[in-house]
Amino acid sequence: MENTSETYYDIRQAVAKLCADFSGEYWRKLDREAAYPSEFVKTLTDAGWLAALIPEEFGGAGLPLSAGAAILEEIHKSGGNAGACHAQMYTMGTLLRHGSEKQKQQYLPKIASGELRLQAFGVTEPSSGTDTGALKTTAKLNGDHYVVKGQKIWTSRAEHSDLMILLARTCPLSESMKKTEGLSVLLVDMRHAINNGMTIRPIKTMMNHATTEVFFDNLKVPKENLVGDEGKGFKYILSGMNAERILIAVECIGDAKWFIDKSTSYATEREVFGRAIGQNQGVQFPIAQAYANMRAAELMVKEALRLYEAGANPGAEANMAKMLAADASNEAANVCIQTHGGFGFAEEYDVERKFRETRLYQVAPISTNLILSYLSEHILGMPRSY
Ligand SMILES: Cc1cc2nc3c(=O)[nH]c(=O)nc-3n(C[C@H](O)[C@H](O)[C@H](O)COP(=O)(O)OP(=O)(O)OC[C@H]3O[C@@H](n4cnc5c(N)ncnc54)[C@H](O)[C@@H]3O)c2cc1C
Repeated sequence: MENTSETYYDIRQAVAKLCADFSGEYWRKLDREAAYPSEFVKTLTDAGWLAALIPEEFGGAGLPLSAGAAILEEIHKSGGNAGACHAQMYTMGTLLRHGSEKQKQQYLPKIASGELRLQAFGVTEPSSGTDTGALKTTAKLNGDHYVVKGQKIWTSRAEHSDLMILLARTCPLSESMKKTEGLSVLLVDMRHAINNGMTIRPIKTMMNHATTEVFFDNLKVPKENLVGDEGKGFKYILSGMNAERILIAVECIGDAKWFIDKSTSYATEREVFGRAIGQNQGVQFPIAQAYANMRAAELMVKEALRLYEAGANPGAEANMAKMLAADASNEAANVCIQTHGGFGFAEEYDVERKFRETRLYQVAPISTNLILSYLSEHILGMPRSY
């Protein structure tokens, strides 16, 4: 149902119209072939939607985070998946907030125009996982460049990006340091890095996500590509987390709306025992419950956005929004499969694809347990558990 009171109604309408050209069949084919949605990402870029959050002085639309949220939610609500390109909206914030004026002038206008893609974000490593401070990739300064050695895992979109935000250790860990100190952010120009010290290996996953392992073997990165100050990289990455959590949360809200819409239509149309299955409370109640949960999660997303745009630090709200929205979409996905009976498992209905896609957000970019740990320690004042 159309809701004209929704924020950014015009943006939502325009994005929904664009998405209508990318049907279920488009996404199904990509999923089957494990292929990247190049045409969709290009169309989105050409229409300027991926540059929505880049300030006008650098060629973007200069819109607030809530506009970015409206764009990503609509993509997911339409049955598509913004996972192929959403990172550009939040990784560019690292450059915007902590990059030098020269770096911003050099890269942001080209990112805004689509000439350069900043889609890759290299933080997670195989041995350290969620424990970011324990990462092992090093970047040693040698004259006018850093020499990078190590490995990243789950670096999504690396094969479809020109630039990567890379977190590496520039100062060896000593006993007097916190393990989150001594890390730095480098902007890696992947066009030059591939086969010159950087190798990318795709990882096949349960959903089509273009994620990879990236290996660094004495990769040279010019010193001028250091973002901000050396050793403060963890803080810079952390400063972008609220936006990232909120944007992932809205994608989950979009997914939940898609599942609820599909479930409602199917329950109304499908007749068994001579009547619509949706007439049975055993079928309609789980859908109504999923709707109520989605609306509650959506309120937390709105609260996180309100605080973020008021200049506050909504760490708790952004994390809760992500967790509640991921739970709401996961539950709605489950209900949608159940409502569709056997057809929920059939590829042509898109339900099983979206079910696989939305499952990711229980784990990435941060898992539910780590959000609960954050709330326990920082909001409720209980002892740190790890
Ligand atoms: C498809 C996909 C795309 C991704 N894209 C990117 C990307 O582009 N860039 C990037 O840097 N990373 C990316 N990630 C990585 C993602 O952020 C991590 O997978 C996630 O943070 C969890 O880390 P891990 O996989 O190492 O799990 P682990 O850290 O090994 O955790 C495994 C499980 O143990 C639990 N656990 C761990 N420690 C604790 C604790 N102290 N208390 C309670 N429970 C705990 C976790 O909750 C989790 O359920 C991606 C991951 C996936 C799957």
